[in-house]
Amino acid sequence: MNQPSSLPPCADAPLAVGPAPRRNTRQVSVQWGNNVVNVGGSAPIVVQSMTNTDTADAIATAIQVKELAQAGSEVVRITVNTPDAAREVPAIRQQLDRMGIDTPLVGDFHYNGHKLLTQFPECAQALSKYRINPGNMGAGNRREDNFAQMIEVACRYNKPVRIGVNWGSLDSTLMARMMDENSRRREPWSAQAVMREALVVSAISNAQRAEALGLPGNAIVLSCKVSHVQDLIAVYQNLASRCDYPLHLGLTEAGMGSKGIVASTAALAVLLQQGIGDTIRISLTPEPGGDRTREVVVAQEILQTMGLRAFTPMVVACPGCGRTSSTVFQHLADSIQAYLREQMPVWRTRYPGVERMNVAVMGCVVNGPGESQHADIGISLPGTGEVPSAPVYVDGRRTVTLKGDHIAQEFQAIVEHYVEQRYGAGA
Ligand code: SF4
Repeated sequence: MNQPSSLPPCADAPLAVGPAPRRNTRQVSVQWGNNVVNVGGSAPIVVQSMTNTDTADAIATAIQVKELAQAGSEVVRITVNTPDAAREVPAIRQQLDRMGIDTPLVGDFHYNGHKLLTQFPECAQALSKYRINPGNMGAGNRREDNFAQMIEVACRYNKPVRIGVNWGSLDSTLMARMMDENSRRREPWSAQAVMREALVVSAISNAQRAEALGLPGNAIVLSCKVSHVQDLIAVYQNLASRCDYPLHLGLTEAGMGSKGIVASTAALAVLLQQGIGDTIRISLTPEPGGDRTREVVVAQEILQTMGLRAFTPMVVACPGCGRTSSTVFQHLADSIQAYLREQMPVWRTRYPGVERMNVAVMGCVVNGPGESQHADIGISLPGTGEVPSAPVYVDGRRTVTLKGDHIAQEFQAIVEHYVEQRYGAGA
């Protein structure tokens, strides 16, 4: 067969790359003490999470907040559902302060938030933000009054709110009215389209009402959560085009394990790439006994792999194939990623910029040396039948070849030395 005589012509310009500029929004400050977490405006996209402990158990809740905060959650939400829970919120806050954790707490309210916030002023004060679900506040005038009461507390204590609409608890009066209006259309929309529109209308109209009641426009974050990827993308694209409030992104009830991670990533990546989203939460159902902090790690990894923020050095590892039958490189990739993450609480302050470091752990000579040369530091392990040696590349240059039974420990020591040299005080 004849080979083509020349290469195809070059494109006229370099490939367009990177996310769209972030949408212009107001900026909301969520604060505890000196720790101010800004959401929207020019602030980086904020990672947040939520506890699953009984809030009435102050110690268990404070411990989990601490774990989530140390994993990198910049804001943590707790359920405030009963008088016992509301009574314990100040104790949770005090316990966290004693432990040196100044992460702002958000109270998640449904049905009785107006009562709890007025009956427990210390709870209202200890929280840094209130999440209000306008669909879970009663009906008719009662709904209006309850909503006004919560906004009044937010104004009194100078706290921002998230007006968080959820398709599982959409304001039934609004939905009924919009379905009625839809039935009078010459060509009625599908029920799903009406539901999407109702979510957006509910969020924006309640935000406008909160402003009319005296809450500043820069104290309101909006969310419209649904559990299907395409619905979420459509709703947020629409919401983003109709208001300038910062948006909290999250696929609600995303599910367990890989399904939850994949669905959340699929939905959020599309929106983030379009410049939509100012704070994210990944709603993963933990496996029994599973680690709640996983949702924080996933949120960080979405932002970091998209190039939107950096939190911890990333390990590039090949998937492995028939060319490497040993699991050495899998163990090495896993242990190096875990090691890097464990170091971050200390490294973050000691080695500024280290969170952008790339480490490659590759399984054989096919792509190993090339990928390792592209990383800041990389190792190419021997595949089946290859000479049992592992060349290490630092800043693109081969520096040493490791052999024997202690490759993992030796490579970790090389990484540690590299971090100190490149990011340490004397660098
Ligand atoms: S680098 Fe080697 S072992 Fe890894 S996937 Fe590629 S060919 Fe397979």
